[in-house]
Amino acid sequence: MQKSDVGIYIHIPFCKSKCFYCDFNSFHANNGEFEFYKNILIKEISSFEKLKNYNIKSIFIGGGTPTIIPEEYINEILEAIFNYNINRDAEITIEANPGTLTYEKLKNLKSFGINRLSIGVQSLNNKILKNIGRIHTKEEFLKNYEDAISVGFNNINLDLIFSLPDQKFSEWKDTLKNIISLNPKHISTYGLILEEGTKFYEMYQNGNLNLVDDYLDRKMYYYAKEILSINGYEQYEISNFAKSGFESKHNIIYWTMENYKGFGLGAHSYLDGIRSSNTTNFNKYLNSDGEISKLEDYKNILSEKDKIEEFMFLGLRLSKGISIEDFNKKFNKNIYDIYSDVIKNNLNKGLITVTDRIYLTEKGKDISNTVMADFLL
Ligand code: SF4
Repeated sequence: MQKSDVGIYIHIPFCKSKCFYCDFNSFHANNGEFEFYKNILIKEISSFEKLKNYNIKSIFIGGGTPTIIPEEYINEILEAIFNYNINRDAEITIEANPGTLTYEKLKNLKSFGINRLSIGVQSLNNKILKNIGRIHTKEEFLKNYEDAISVGFNNINLDLIFSLPDQKFSEWKDTLKNIISLNPKHISTYGLILEEGTKFYEMYQNGNLNLVDDYLDRKMYYYAKEILSINGYEQYEISNFAKSGFESKHNIIYWTMENYKGFGLGAHSYLDGIRSSNTTNFNKYLNSDGEISKLEDYKNILSEKDKIEEFMFLGLRLSKGISIEDFNKKFNKNIYDIYSDVIKNNLNKGLITVTDRIYLTEKGKDISNTVMADFLL
């Protein structure tokens, strides 16, 4: 029997300190905890024998800040995954933050088989970096980037955030221009979202946070789209831009509802129609001894309705949208029997384009959440 493809996500939940906007599953920990966590993680990976039935087409080590733990641990984790069937051309990404990288570390990560770096830059303005709680400066990032190139990484993503408190348009423009001049293969840009439980949220509640207005937020987004397009970056997803052939294979798995398996604290999976996630409780995870039954928190077998909604909701994030033929084949149904009115309404409003595919127009991308919510049944 032919094996299906799967992407692997590994969660490393540690960070040096908490950025002011961040509500991710990440926190400060010590060396002993790093080692203990790594050991449980490896047990979890090794005990998931079902993985033998798949071909691994991508690995994404995310966080948190995976580059905060000793790189030998990263190697051990990868070795545990390499015991399964891994495609020769698998994309293997690690998220990295300036302030936790050295030339030596980058060289080692490359030698372990990692072929893609995703660096959290956010801004190239030192004042802004400080005001959002980042641990690094522009100069540290530039040094890390130069080192990454010199050790042989040629597939690098740089993450940026716009609409940061007090951010001026000219500062965003400068960051983008300087980032583009480095010629990375992939750039992700996210508008700031104020999340509950973050330091920014608290500052906002106390009236101490000066957010940019909607007009400036859109102006920044449009500028990014324009300058990135002029410089050869195709917007293949709402927040993601890449040079041709360098779209993230791993992230595309999420948006096209292919199989992925997550390992580690709070990691999510979608495998053969079942969504599941691990506990977000650190002690519970450490006490599980890597036994799946003890660390899994949630499991949901998706109904057909769930699958249809997710297929539309996630697929519309991609610039090329969804294929009508794929939909009809996958669900053995005609898409117009389900979405005829929704398609007509959004088409009339100029929010989607319909050919043999359905995808968001530029206007639709602007209010993507509203359009996507329309496809909920
Ligand atoms: S480095 Fe990333 S994961 Fe860690 S606190 Fe900052 S934004 Fe959150």
